[in-house]
Amino acid sequence: MKTTVIGAGVIGLACAYELSELGHEVTVVDAGTAGAAASAGNAGWITPFLSMPRAAPGAVRDALSSFTSAEGPARMRPHLEAGFASWVLRFLLAGSRKRSARATAALQRFSRHALEHVDSLLDRGVEFEHHTDGLAVVFKQAANLENYRRTAARMRTLGYDGTITVHRGSDVTDFDPAISSEVAGVLHLESERHVRPESLSQGLAKSLLNNGGSLIEGEPVRRILPQRTPGTWTVVTAGGKEIPSDHVVVAAGYATRALLKPLGVTVPLEAAKGTSMTARGEGIAPSHPLKLYENMVACSPFDDGVRLSGTFDIGRRDFALNRRRLDMVVRHGLSYLADWRPTETRSTWVGHRPTSVDDTPIIGPVAGRPGLYLATGHGTLGVSLAPVTGALAAREIAGRGEQSELTPFRLSRFGARAVRPATL
Ligand SMILES: Cc1cc2nc3c(=O)[nH]c(=O)nc-3n(C[C@H](O)[C@H](O)[C@H](O)COP(=O)(O)OP(=O)(O)OC[C@H]3O[C@@H](n4cnc5c(N)ncnc54)[C@H](O)[C@@H]3O)c2cc1C
Repeated sequence: MKTTVIGAGVIGLACAYELSELGHEVTVVDAGTAGAAASAGNAGWITPFLSMPRAAPGAVRDALSSFTSAEGPARMRPHLEAGFASWVLRFLLAGSRKRSARATAALQRFSRHALEHVDSLLDRGVEFEHHTDGLAVVFKQAANLENYRRTAARMRTLGYDGTITVHRGSDVTDFDPAISSEVAGVLHLESERHVRPESLSQGLAKSLLNNGGSLIEGEPVRRILPQRTPGTWTVVTAGGKEIPSDHVVVAAGYATRALLKPLGVTVPLEAAKGTSMTARGEGIAPSHPLKLYENMVACSPFDDGVRLSGTFDIGRRDFALNRRRLDMVVRHGLSYLADWRPTETRSTWVGHRPTSVDDTPIIGPVAGRPGLYLATGHGTLGVSLAPVTGALAAREIAGRGEQSELTPFRLSRFGARAVRPATL
């Protein structure tokens, strides 16, 4: 079976590698460099616990306050393309208590398998930087820690079975001396992991090539055309390459929306811009990844430095580094740390999370377009869910039966208007 994967982000590469493991002849095509878009400078957390949508109760309040606060972690940046206003409205509606609870339950069920699929990649020799120190949620305010323990209790009822410990007072600095003694406490999710996200994409790409797959970079796909034989396709690139395919997996991040529009398929995605700085520094570096709760900043210690990342700026898709937003992330991040300070910046980055209207992934075949499969919309969880997405999607594409964990994530949940009847 010839399968073409459009998009060499962590999702496309995970699907491609797993398909190559199942014997497919896989070609991955990317407009740029593999793993360089949203899948690069992010925090790299593999976190079943945090698998919950941002479209949640309070989203309306947060969205409105983001208009008025220059320091808010989330921002609305409207653009003029059709569908933005309706996307925002639907995102806010998806944050109702009932819908958000349903989405959280589906994500918890899916992410329960996240760690075993990371282990499965390691067992099969996929190489990447991988850490097993858990994930610590750090609170400046004691009341927020107590509230968050209710979230933990809710996750337990949804099946989360990782070990959780709480540290307060002097316990906090014993736990991780890099954390400021001023914080109120820490909730340590001991079973969570983190990876260097760039290395995960590189490792998947290398293993794909070892399996005989191919990777074409710097070739934007312009069109996906149905061939005469029903269920087969030709992927056409801007450079004039025509790739005949029995299956096409579209994993092009937020650009999936524009790519599928000519096929009459509406994928309700927007881009949520984030930013990061990776630096070496002096002082005590954290030994755990830290979720710095009040300011929504992520701090990830890697082998060659510490990364501070954050912001969720929804809408416009520019690749310019906004120095003010990045400085804010760094300043807020450092306010939780004792004395670590960056001295040598290794990289700065912006990336766009592909964010669906209910902030849960869109994975599965496209009804009425046999051979066409979607894997996108992972929002804040693309790294966490890439290994499990790749494994389950590959099984479905290879005809090994429907994977029930993916059922809540079908495009069909957006109703009949998502796919125009085929006139192909
Ligand atoms: C600040 C920040 C922190 C984050 N932290 C975490 C975290 O800790 N854990 C976690 O799980 N997630 C995290 N995320 C989210 C994560 O980065 C994304 O969910 C994930 O990278 C999405 O991967 P993707 O493969 O879908 O998209 P991308 O990585 O964007 O890949 C899409 C690819 O498609 C290609 N493409 C687009 N159009 C075309 C075309 N026409 N033809 C060919 N190729 C095309 C692009 O070039 C790109 O390479 C974070 C995100 C941000 C912004």
